[in-house]
Amino acid sequence: MGKTRVLIIGAGITGLSIARVLSMYENLDVVVVEKEPDVGWGATKANTAIIHPCHEEDPDKHPLRAKLCLEGHDLWYKWTKELDIPVKWPGELIVATNDEEASALKHYLSLGMRNGVAGVRIVDKEELAALEPNVNPNAIAGLWAPTAGQMSPWEAAVALAENSVSNGARILFETEVKRVVVREKKVVGVETNNGFIEADMVINAAGIHADEISRSAGIDEFTIFPRRGEYVIYDEDVDIKVKRIVHTAPTPKTKGVYVTTTLEGNLLIGPTAEDLPIDAKEEKSTTRNGIKYILEAAKKILKTIPPRTKIIRMFAGLRPEPSTGSFIIKFYEEPWGFINVAGIRSPGLTAAPAIAYYVRDMIAERTSLVEKRKWNPIRRGIKRISRMNQDEKARIVKENPRYGRIICLCKEVSEAEIIEAIKRMKAIGVKTITLDGIKFRTHAMFGRCQGSFCRLRIALLISREQDIPLWKVSFKGSGSEYGVGEVKEVFKEV
Ligand SMILES: Cc1cc2nc3c(=O)[nH]c(=O)nc-3n(C[C@H](O)[C@H](O)[C@H](O)COP(=O)(O)OP(=O)(O)OC[C@H]3O[C@@H](n4cnc5c(N)ncnc54)[C@H](O)[C@@H]3O)c2cc1C
Repeated sequence: MGKTRVLIIGAGITGLSIARVLSMYENLDVVVVEKEPDVGWGATKANTAIIHPCHEEDPDKHPLRAKLCLEGHDLWYKWTKELDIPVKWPGELIVATNDEEASALKHYLSLGMRNGVAGVRIVDKEELAALEPNVNPNAIAGLWAPTAGQMSPWEAAVALAENSVSNGARILFETEVKRVVVREKKVVGVETNNGFIEADMVINAAGIHADEISRSAGIDEFTIFPRRGEYVIYDEDVDIKVKRIVHTAPTPKTKGVYVTTTLEGNLLIGPTAEDLPIDAKEEKSTTRNGIKYILEAAKKILKTIPPRTKIIRMFAGLRPEPSTGSFIIKFYEEPWGFINVAGIRSPGLTAAPAIAYYVRDMIAERTSLVEKRKWNPIRRGIKRISRMNQDEKARIVKENPRYGRIICLCKEVSEAEIIEAIKRMKAIGVKTITLDGIKFRTHAMFGRCQGSFCRLRIALLISREQDIPLWKVSFKGSGSEYGVGEVKEVFKEV
């Protein structure tokens, strides 16, 4: 039996989850095509990182979203273990500060009960304070959903990529799909900046650009609008932290403003939900008004918030908001072989594993799939010196002295971890080893100083390992190089 060539556009959490699931089959040849130099650089890296319990999903309005949210939530218990993805399950509280919000809790309770979300219930003022000691004493009630989780989404993307590739999938980086090529009512491949790539099936998981890809295949059923979400992150040493995930009451547009303590121990507040014009699909700047808005919202639900001087970073993500409101997951008979996995807005991170099985089932209805006997579900993350006790540290430094050279002091990241990250990036096909790629794999440059101490040292390691001049090391790929050239070059010209 010949192999069906499946090409996935987009190495975000959706495309990579699909790649992992499809890599389970002998008769599929899976290729992921990504325009960026690395995985997870779209909506996947800039979100609230919550594995939603799904009590905010309305099964009447968005039945597919509700179903995939619930299934995806449960799959993450298994996938985070198999793939060694950092995760915690602190549970979530919607905090009501007035009667109107308190009555809204009943609505989400009823959705939660209809969706079969385990343990969801309304708690009174006292229990709310017991569950979350830092909640504002003015809060009058809460909705408690104990199954909510928090995950590292960029590490999830990296883990999925590593696992998919070790099971035979390929990722082509810095390859931008310009259009889907259709002949005689069938997809035959894609035209990219690196030439034509043949494929029997094309899966469009291009996030915010999925409408443009779909249109190029002749399917013009929806538009994807950018909806910006802005965040702030505080230094680890602030007094105020939260034990649970807490947030303001949801609105028709968003699930509210969240306050969480990240897996790394930083207080995170956000996001806003601001609809941007259709041509602002790369507009990821933060704004004075946005930051003001989220801090005000956080003040409403917390006893107090840390001073602004403790903010170490602000960032924004863009939700791929579909004009239909719903996830668009569809196998087309015309052009045959084209599959849209579009409009994957929130709770897309939660739903991604379930979306992947849903796509697998659509393919299985049309092609008989043969399971790989040697498919390996396991992937292990980089060993982190910061998570070891003294004995473990002593042992590992003896085995590999590079573990003893700490490059990032804020996050205690060693040279060995950076070298391992570079090795792993190359193994999944990354062509340009970027500072951001190292940051998202090792957490170096994530701390209080945001890289002002270690960035140069990491750039020097990349330069050494890749045998390229220091100035050619880039933050995010071409156009964001560390320098503008050798200083001596300037003198040569005069
Ligand atoms: C502010 C915010 C908060 C959120 N909070 C949560 C949350 O807490 N929990 C939750 O479950 N969900 C949350 N979400 C939603 C979640 O982040 C998204 O649903 C999910 O990340 C979508 O993943 P994706 O892979 O579909 O898209 P993306 O991650 O955007 O991936 C698409 C990929 O396609 C690539 N691409 C695009 N065009 C092309 C092309 N022409 N050629 C090649 N490659 C291309 C892009 O570079 C990108 O890597 C949030 C989203 C935002 C923005």
